[in-house]
Amino acid sequence: MSDESAAGSGRYESQTANPRWGEDEQRALAGATVFVVGAGALGSIAASYLAGAGVGRLAIVDGSTVDESDLHRQVLYLSPEAGMLKAESLAAKLSLVNPDVHVDPFPADLTVDNVGPILTGADFVLDCSSSDAVRRVVNDGCTGAGTAFCTAAVSGFDAALLAVVPGSTACCRCENVPNGLGLPSREDQGVFGPPAGAAASMQALTAIGFVTGAIDVRPGRLLRLRGGEMEWNEEQLQRTPGCICASDSRGGNV
Ligand SMILES: [Zn+2]
Repeated sequence: MSDESAAGSGRYESQTANPRWGEDEQRALAGATVFVVGAGALGSIAASYLAGAGVGRLAIVDGSTVDESDLHRQVLYLSPEAGMLKAESLAAKLSLVNPDVHVDPFPADLTVDNVGPILTGADFVLDCSSSDAVRRVVNDGCTGAGTAFCTAAVSGFDAALLAVVPGSTACCRCENVPNGLGLPSREDQGVFGPPAGAAASMQALTAIGFVTGAIDVRPGRLLRLRGGEMEWNEEQLQRTPGCICASDSRGGNV
């Protein structure tokens, strides 16, 4: 996408009308690459808003297929798509949402072995897996590369998210960052769509804010939605001395 099309298109006139958002921010977003790990209830919604807003490149990492039990909360997928790869289904839809956005599907599970090569080139990463195991893979890969990211979790009516800037804020290996970002087990609570959508929207806003500077994303702060009580709360998390995020061997381009 050219700078002219990024900033001058009528597609974006409703957001460029905002006093904190203009041609410079629109161009910065058009020049950014955001990776979305997990194309479920969090990732599909976050990626849709990023595509609509005009991010330059989106990469969708997910090796799973659409299951009927996903459809109540993963509303970008349609009933006839059961069995299709989510990364490819979502990538096709995002290209229709905004043809200016370059979308790369990675139909693979993220592991310690492939996280480095797959996340190469990311300006920002959204961990939308809602899985502690994948969260740790993303955390370690991004911390090693010096790439900022935002992770989230959903359970029942609740959701939580945390933005991490390596070298500056607590990471997910720091001692006071709880498993599951402090949410109760999904095995007990199930999962509902709207709280996931709320967290996904905040993840998209965090990515937009980070790559453009238009929004104070306040990384290192754990945001929690208690949907059953209709309230948000927050906790600023401290770094743990000696954690991998404080290692001298950590990379750094943030
Ligand atoms: Zn840490």
